[in-house]
Order: sequence, then structure tokens, then C-alpha cells
Amino acid sequence: MDATIESKIWVIVEQRRGRLTEVGLEIVGRAIDLAGPVGWKVAAVVLGHGLEETAREVLAYGVDEVLALDHPLLTDYCNQAYVAALEAPIRSARPEVILLGATARGTDLGPRLAARLRTGLSAHCVDLELTPGGGLLAVVPGWGGTVMARISCPRACPQMATVMPGVFPMPSPSESRGRVLVTQPDLSPADVTYRVVEVETGPPEPSDLEAARVVVAGGWGVGGPDGWRLVEELADALHGAVGATRPAVDESWADEGQMIGTSGRRVKPKLYIGVALSGHAHHLVGLKNPDLAVAVNQDPGAPIFNQCDIGLVGDFREIVPALIEAIKAYSTP
Ligand SMILES: Cc1cc2nc3c(=O)[nH]c(=O)nc-3n(C[C@H](O)[C@H](O)[C@H](O)COP(=O)(O)OP(=O)(O)OC[C@H]3O[C@@H](n4cnc5c(N)ncnc54)[C@H](O)[C@@H]3O)c2cc1C
Repeated sequence: MDATIESKIWVIVEQRRGRLTEVGLEIVGRAIDLAGPVGWKVAAVVLGHGLEETAREVLAYGVDEVLALDHPLLTDYCNQAYVAALEAPIRSARPEVILLGATARGTDLGPRLAARLRTGLSAHCVDLELTPGGGLLAVVPGWGGTVMARISCPRACPQMATVMPGVFPMPSPSESRGRVLVTQPDLSPADVTYRVVEVETGPPEPSDLEAARVVVAGGWGVGGPDGWRLVEELADALHGAVGATRPAVDESWADEGQMIGTSGRRVKPKLYIGVALSGHAHHLVGLKNPDLAVAVNQDPGAPIFNQCDIGLVGDFREIVPALIEAIKAYSTP
């Protein structure tokens, strides 16, 4: 059955208890756009147990084929079982490109699978292109985020990449045109040296940041909890959400879930205010087309000033309280 898979681009679409992750579908949408000009087909690959309904759901997103690898040992994510299940169909069908979401699971599975297949992998991509000859160009922020590297490995087979959530639009489901192949991989308990005994689901992740119309993000330059409180007060005054750069999270001024950027969340606010942050691409990659971007930084040469609509040069400890006061005065009838 594996040999009948014709698609040259495979997207591994994560599902958790039957729920598809958005990033997988976002990559599917991009893969279909890329495959058209080179005349390739696109397959979505789902792994788990009892997958028929999930596979039909993925099919509605316009892929040519869905390969559902269905086995009791794949019920919960287990990297050894997943790699073992994927290896045989990949070696048999020889796709040119394999794409995964840069989620916790995708960043675990992708490199393991690449190592098993003796190929390379571009991690945390923020864009993908395909040359007319079928070469994958993976766009990755590099050098501390100051450049965008376009990485190609034309001789690698398959060419693999993990893609950041939120960089491609979510496609809409439409009429299915492809087919579903459900197959039971040849797995045995010996393929797995550890077993998932229980999955504990934490509280739902905060999504207010992604949905917020106003985001005030603070950086390393706020200097400590007192400075951070000013960032929170400004967000409060604007009824907005608080975002953070990585150093602010590392210092525990903000939670991991508040980090914006390559390794964090994607935000699409109407108004973004960056306070005492330098504007590294690793952070700004997480900011999608705000109507208005404002930056507060004491260094007139800070890169953030090349990326914002309004730049306020000065100490945030003076500028932010003045902004809060002005906003409060404006909003008080
Ligand atoms: C693989 C990888 C992934 C990464 N992912 C992310 C990510 O997802 N998100 C992220 O944010 N980062 C990420 N980073 C880190 C990123 O490269 C930058 O180091 C980080 O974004 C910089 O944070 P910052 O702007 O807060 O700090 P800095 O670059 O140190 O900037 C601090 C700024 O504060 C200003 N400042 C200082 N004091 C004041 C003051 N009193 N008033 C006004 N301004 C002041 C300074 O002029 C400076 O511009 C990643 C890095 C790597 C290697």
C-alpha cells in the first residue's frame, strides 16, 4: 500500500486525541501552493490509533493524499514508535520534502526522523519556497535574528524542515478531492524501549495574547520586576495583553506563554508597543502586521526603530508613566 503514495511533499499533521493542530494545516496550505507550479502532489500524514475520521478531516484541506498510520502503539506520542512507523513508508515512497510543525512534538520528532533517514533538517522556519527544480528553500532567522538565512539542501533526500506556527494562513476546508490510505505499520513492542503510561493535560494555554488587539511587550531593558510592573500598567491602561522577549521570560518577569517570537507566540494586534527591547528578528518574527507599532528605547540606534511607526527615544521609566497618565486622562470623561 505504501508504494502507491505518489505525493512528493509530505506534511506530518499532528493530532491530539483526534484534534488537528493548526500549524499542520497551515503548512498543508503552503505546501499545496508550492507544489502546484512544479506539478507535485501533497500528502498529509497522520499518526495515531482510530484515525479514519481524523484522516477524512485532513483531506478536506485540499491534499491529494492522506496517509493514516494507525496502530495502538501510536495512540499517545512516542518518538521511537513514530519514527519506526514513518521510516518504512518514507523509504518506500521516497518523498522529496517532509515538513512538520515546530511544536514541542515536531521539534522532537523531526530531528530523530532526519537522523534515521540520514538527511538534514532546517529548524524553526518562518517561510518556505520551492525552486522550479524542486529544491526546498527554508527561511530561518539567523545570527541572533539579525539576518534571514535562506537554507537549501538540494542533494538531501528527503529535504526536511520544521515550520513555526502562525507564519502561514490557516486554509479553509473545502470539498475533498483526494484519497485516504489507512495502513497499520509493522510495529512491535520491541521498537519502543519506553511506554507512555499516562498523559496529563495542563490548564488550557492562555490565548488572550494571540487574540489581543493591543499588545505591550517588555524586554531585557526594563531591568527588573519594578520596571515590569510599568509594562503591565501600560497594557492595563490600554486594555491590552502583556508580551515579552526571551530575556524577560528567562528572568521570570514574564511567563513562558507570554514570549513572542521564533520560540514563542505569534501576535496580530492592531497596536503593538515594544518597551525597552532591541527588536531582534527572533522577537519581531512573532509580530504580524500591526496597524501601528510603537517603540520605547533609550538607544536611538536600536534596531526596533527601523521596524516601528513611532519611535520614542528615552528612558522607559520616564516615558511609560507619562504614556499611562496621558491614556488615563484621555479615557476619563
Ligand atoms: C534560537 C533562538 C530563538 C530565539 N527565540 C526568541 C523568541 O522567540 N523571542 C524573543 O524575544 N527572543 C528570542 N531569542 C532571543 C533573541 O535573539 C534576542 O536575544 C532577544 O529577543 C533580545 O531581547 P531584548 O530585546 O529584550 O534584549 P536586548 O537585545 O538586550 O535589548 C534590550 C534593549 O533595552 C534597551 N534599554 C535598556 N534600558 C533601557 C531603558 N531604561 N529605557 C529604554 N530602553 C532601555 C536597550 O537599549 C536595548 O535595546 C531567540 C534566540 C535564539 C538563539
